[in-house]
Amino acid sequence: MTPTDASILISQPVRRPLELHPAVDSGIPMKVLLEGRPVIITLDGPAGTGKSSVARTLAARLGLDFLDTGAMYRAATAIAIDRGIPITDEAAVVREVVAADLVFDWKVDPPRILAFGVPIDHRTRDRDVTALVSPVAAIAPLRREMVAKQRHFGAQHPRLVSEGRDQGSVVFPNADVKFYMDASPEVRAQRRFDQLTQAGLSADYGQLLREIEDRDRRDSSRADGPLICPTDAVRVDTSNLRFDQVVQTLEDEVRRRVVAKG
Ligand code: C5P
Repeated sequence: MTPTDASILISQPVRRPLELHPAVDSGIPMKVLLEGRPVIITLDGPAGTGKSSVARTLAARLGLDFLDTGAMYRAATAIAIDRGIPITDEAAVVREVVAADLVFDWKVDPPRILAFGVPIDHRTRDRDVTALVSPVAAIAPLRREMVAKQRHFGAQHPRLVSEGRDQGSVVFPNADVKFYMDASPEVRAQRRFDQLTQAGLSADYGQLLREIEDRDRRDSSRADGPLICPTDAVRVDTSNLRFDQVVQTLEDEVRRRVVAKG
């Protein structure tokens, strides 16, 4: 999906605080209002909703760091594939990923993921990795490692937009603002199809739809850290607004929630 394709529809009434802080409508840029304050914002949802681009842009607008937790599970998958470890050998996968000591280089935008001290971001979006990432992400001891690491990153970067599947539900349950982005599998498959064909690549809509539904099913049904919409999250359906409107809607909500707290 290209950023301009993304659209958004608030599918639940947005909760507003009873009293608004005077700064809420002051026109002061959020970056300035949030300066120096610890703020954790989580953005969860299934694949293809545009949440990565939205999270990254929101983070830049608010002057916060950006954590792409999907990249961590993708890196774990690439490590297993490239080192010939069958993903059914869960203990070996976990051992190797722990040894890889996944970290991000936060000096570049977006932060680049490193394994064994070297960049692995060139592998994370490859098709073989995407095809295997959900079963790898379902390995419970691996999730425990990832959750601990993500909290550690959160402690090091306490002004953060964190994006994934379980960020609001498991990793940062006390986040200041939680978002859950969604769209129908058909819309998400169509976006992916458009993205691939516009890039001159061949694509099969039916296959893309099956892949998305399969990943949704696996991500939602696993025992550990399943994809769910936390009860205290603002749910958005990314269907009918442009990318800039999506980001603006989220920013407005952060303004209402965070600034109103004073
Ligand atoms: O967001 P992205 O598509 O890069 O995530 C890749 C996969 O990583 C997801 O399909 C999911 O299986 C897994 N994931 C996860 N928990 C997260 C982030 C990603 O299980 N917090």
